[in-house]
Amino acid sequence: MKIGTDKANKLRELIDSGPRRIVIVTHTNPDGDAIGSSLAWGELLESKGHDVTCVVPNRYPSFLDWMPGIEQLKIFKYDEDGSTAQKISEAEIIFCLDFNQITRLERLSDAIKDNETAQVVLIDHHLNPSAGFDLIFSYPDSSSTSFLVYELIEQLEGTTAITKRMGENLYVGMMTDTGNFAFSNLTPELFRAVASLVEKGVDVAAIHSNVYNSFTEDRLRLLGFALNKMETFRAGDVGVAYIALKESELRRFRFQPGDSEGFVNFPLTVRTLDVSASFIENKKFIRISLRSRGDVDVSKFANKYFDGGGHKNASGGKSFMSMAETIAHFRRSALEYFGEGVSVESSPRQTTEFPG
Ligand code: 5GP
Ligand code: MN
Repeated sequence: MKIGTDKANKLRELIDSGPRRIVIVTHTNPDGDAIGSSLAWGELLESKGHDVTCVVPNRYPSFLDWMPGIEQLKIFKYDEDGSTAQKISEAEIIFCLDFNQITRLERLSDAIKDNETAQVVLIDHHLNPSAGFDLIFSYPDSSSTSFLVYELIEQLEGTTAITKRMGENLYVGMMTDTGNFAFSNLTPELFRAVASLVEKGVDVAAIHSNVYNSFTEDRLRLLGFALNKMETFRAGDVGVAYIALKESELRRFRFQPGDSEGFVNFPLTVRTLDVSASFIENKKFIRISLRSRGDVDVSKFANKYFDGGGHKNASGGKSFMSMAETIAHFRRSALEYFGEGVSVESSPRQTTEFPG
């Protein structure tokens, strides 16, 4: 996508106007795109002489540990000495990357709102950004925020400004948010961007292995357990699957943040399933992830029934009900929304027989 000249100029003015105190924030449970886009954008701003602090609300999954510059990230949850809060309160510019509502940052939201003088700039690819930003770069057709950052840098500075380190971080976001280049919005421009990152020396195979082949044995066993628990039903023409994991079950597998990342995608490898949901319980609430294929829209569904949102084929939300109530609400809602109220039988509970 082409970024409007007016807006690009405003951004250029902002980042070309002498050294500034800049904070970059991204969403709770940061993923490869959140971290990759933040680190790359941060490195570009640092190269222009700014004082940059990248902040995440809580910890990132361990399979991202190797990302260049990740050791500089401030985890707001562990800001015991208040130094990160101070950086936020003193910031002249705050960039919000890969999310569209400041309220999604939980406790970090207040710290940002308390700084009333900073220019707050959104760079994101989710639908329907909320109000409250001074400058908005919202491109829902972009497959990742990392690709959007690539295009912003290309337009503002030219691709020569992108270093190999930045390229590695951007590639992680492009790869993970597209499910390794398998989902939607796979444009020629995206592959041209990837080609240019490869020219800079980005090692695609090494990054793939770092991200996808670095799980713990506990995580793999939890995946097996989760898939075995999967339930399916039909809502009219739409095949629906869900996976529910209670806190006690997660504890059995020594659950670490990020361990359930991607679980929700597996049911869609079944030809007859069109919608997949996962319900992952923590101490405070149940985190809901939704995926769909084709024209089936889970973003509106998440918004209507779970106060959430996201993209047409990948969305999420929260539930403060019990697991049983959440599942009952989900089943009713799916029947109403996808099946127009047609009641259908649940599939019998599968028990898996292992050979031998
Ligand atoms: P995930 O399932 O990977 O956590 O989230 C999938 C997509 O849905 C992401 O793009 C994410 O931003 C969005 N999403 C997840 N949870 C929420 C939520 O509670 N509210 C909104 N508005 N979007 C969400
Ligand atoms: Mn993203």
